[in-house]
Amino acid sequence: MGSQTIRLGRIFGLEIGFNWSLLPFFLLVAWTMATEVLPSGAPGLSSTEYWIAGVVGTVVFYACLLAHELSHALVARTKGVKVAGITLWLFGGVTQLEGEPSRAQDQALITAVGPLTSLVLAAIFFGTQLLLGSLNAPLLLVTVLSWMALLNLVLGVFNLVPALPLDGGRLLGAAVWWRTGSKDRGTTGAVRVGRFFAYLLIALGALEVLAGGLLNGLWLALIGWFLLSAGAAEGRQVGVRSRLRQVPVAAVMTSPVPTLPGWLTCGQLVEAGSLGAGLYALHGVGGEPLGFLPRSRVEEAVRGGHPEWRLEALAVAAEQLTKVRPDEDLEAALLRLGPHLEQGALVVANGELVGTLAASDLARVAALAPLLSQRPQR
Ligand SMILES: [Zn+2]
Repeated sequence: MGSQTIRLGRIFGLEIGFNWSLLPFFLLVAWTMATEVLPSGAPGLSSTEYWIAGVVGTVVFYACLLAHELSHALVARTKGVKVAGITLWLFGGVTQLEGEPSRAQDQALITAVGPLTSLVLAAIFFGTQLLLGSLNAPLLLVTVLSWMALLNLVLGVFNLVPALPLDGGRLLGAAVWWRTGSKDRGTTGAVRVGRFFAYLLIALGALEVLAGGLLNGLWLALIGWFLLSAGAAEGRQVGVRSRLRQVPVAAVMTSPVPTLPGWLTCGQLVEAGSLGAGLYALHGVGGEPLGFLPRSRVEEAVRGGHPEWRLEALAVAAEQLTKVRPDEDLEAALLRLGPHLEQGALVVANGELVGTLAASDLARVAALAPLLSQRPQR
């Protein structure tokens, strides 16, 4: 999602952004409200008033989407799962997690709180609308509120459809996980049920088109198609993970640990074309250890116009690097490495440094390609 994401700011220490794909949908919602919903709900006003109310209503709706995602993120954090940030896009929001809950119950809780938040918001908007209606508040305001109630209701219910990557699919996966004790079987089951729902939506969309509802039909089919492709991607990840579980760190690590003299400059190293490994040990003139050097730091320095920097100036202390064991499987190591993948990890056995593990080592494991480009999302 990278380059297409615009930063909005931080809430509760979480990075919030939005994806450009959201803009057409934003305009569609505002346009529907300003030209159809509001004029029929509160007739006799100017189009300027409808448009202002329509845009304000749409902003409030996106705030509700954000509340849904924030609830996932905050519960995930209380369950010890790190959250990278939240991105709003076309179909709602995505909360990027930097790891996964280790228990099915935690997964269920992190997931369920989202639709619950939407349904509670729907109830609050509905109640407020009833109250203001009985107090003879302006009809335009009441209509906006009742639409917010409806949209949040749809959001809550739609997300409960048991198809990955929707919340309903994750809840189903968590239930199967809890019953069978296997996370993979949970995901595989949820992918299979999700595929059924995706085809169902596409079929309903086709029927709707045949019955004359072209736009509604296309929307249904589009959502079905999106669920189909997103579900398939999650299914592939399960396959990758089960293969990763059979590969120990020792099979891909760089060993012995490659070393470099700390007095070399970044430019000299890049010129020589000898940056083969992902993580180096540095030594001084007298052979004394100077810490470690992730290759990414050298490349950053050169790209940033500082080829004259000495390697020792970029050293990272051993304490700051993630440690993995050679007999540990790659899935476990990767989950712990998470966002520090760029830096790499030290492979330590019985207190002895036996190798290094970096992104370039992992790139050799062909099965890893899809996982490296995709972080667990919700
Ligand atoms: Zn959700």
